[in-house]
Amino acid sequence: MDLHTGKSNWVDSLPYAPSFPALEQDATCDVLVVGAGECGALCAFELVSRGLDVIVVDKRKAVSGISSANTGMLQAASDKSLHSYIHSLGPERGVRVYRLCRQAVDQLERISSMLDFDCQFKRRDSLYFASTEEDVPGLKKEYETLAKYGFDADYWDESAIGDHFSFRKPAALYSRNDAEFNPYRFVNALLLYVSRQGARVFEHTEVIRHTTDKEGIVFYTPNYRIRAQYAVIAAGYEAQEWKRNPNAVMSSTFAIATRRLNDFPGWPGRCLIWETARPYLYIRTTADNRIVAGGLDERTGSGTERERMLRHKSDLLVERLRQLFPHIPDLRAEYSWAAAFGSTHDSLPLIGPQESFPRCYFALGYGGNGTVYSMIASQLIAGLLTEGRHPDAELFRFDRPVRDVGVSI
Ligand SMILES: Cc1cc2nc3c(=O)[nH]c(=O)nc-3n(C[C@H](O)[C@H](O)[C@H](O)COP(=O)(O)OP(=O)(O)OC[C@H]3O[C@@H](n4cnc5c(N)ncnc54)[C@H](O)[C@@H]3O)c2cc1C
Repeated sequence: MDLHTGKSNWVDSLPYAPSFPALEQDATCDVLVVGAGECGALCAFELVSRGLDVIVVDKRKAVSGISSANTGMLQAASDKSLHSYIHSLGPERGVRVYRLCRQAVDQLERISSMLDFDCQFKRRDSLYFASTEEDVPGLKKEYETLAKYGFDADYWDESAIGDHFSFRKPAALYSRNDAEFNPYRFVNALLLYVSRQGARVFEHTEVIRHTTDKEGIVFYTPNYRIRAQYAVIAAGYEAQEWKRNPNAVMSSTFAIATRRLNDFPGWPGRCLIWETARPYLYIRTTADNRIVAGGLDERTGSGTERERMLRHKSDLLVERLRQLFPHIPDLRAEYSWAAAFGSTHDSLPLIGPQESFPRCYFALGYGGNGTVYSMIASQLIAGLLTEGRHPDAELFRFDRPVRDVGVSI
């Protein structure tokens, strides 16, 4: 699958990324993790922490899948509002999803602080604005729901937004304690960490088929075999080539990073910004003082079409930035990239076993909160693998009924 095109700013932020060998002989382990992106790295971290012997393989260079295209916003709120989750899952499970996301941000902070190089993790507030007047009642309802269940958010009207920012919008939710990080540095540092803890990481090592027997599961690369007790399939969007899930939706998304800026007038606290429109525009700043903006998603999953659209989408993203921040001079894109984007109809990740894949656990953090979902997936799978159960497994299981589709604000 053609995962992304163009160039993100992250790769240049780590010119000497660690490299790992390719597999050059047969191997055995407790758990094979397929995929050295953020989800595979987080799963390896949780499994190694529980004392398991882990091998991680990736058919590409490590961290060159979607995790290198990630824009690195870490938020408790997801693509779907809390009141929409409550509508489709009931209050207990809906609130549970938001609490898990909140905890996952804290856990990512803890893991970032353990790593060898700076992952540029920083706490940020979030501004979620109403894109149109029609979205205001939904935003008010979301504010009331968040308040009812103890989530920290303020409701701002148009004049409050205008008092703080260089733009006016009909209304917004302002919430605290989200975060941003550099996803490329994070995943590279995490792979280095797990390899120091005893995990074996092999890049340029593709799994092409597998068989199961009484003793475990055997994965085949073109030249060698890996025997494992269990496997975690963290193959990202390409896991749809293993088994297509009807809840998964593939599309395309676009992002830019500006040149380095001196100042961010009209943008207090350099908070994370996103909006109620779908697809939404989202914006953050980086440790080296760039603005990263993304969105303008298209339904197509074709890499060729993505590449064709990239220039135009990049211009549109810059234009949106200029409208929001007229006092920031000379806004232009220094990096632009287009990527495949996987989400689900019910805006929940797909985590757990799948029929016809014995001894395999899939970890697919699809959606705009993919990093936070990957964190949740890693803990859930570590629990399933070591204890045979996890209290949240039901929420994200592959064969769950998909009750309603498309309610977002
Ligand atoms: C432009 C963009 C912006 C985003 N922004 C955010 C954001 O701000 N916040 C957020 O939380 N999420 C964001 N996401 C989502 C997030 O990036 C993804 O959810 C996350 O990176 C997925 O990680 P992964 O490890 O599952 O996939 P990947 O990083 O793609 O890793 C999967 C790996 O599996 C390997 N693989 C596949 N098949 C095989 C095989 N057969 N054998 C061996 N290896 C194999 C691939 O080579 C790949 O490296 C964004 C996504 C995009 C596209």
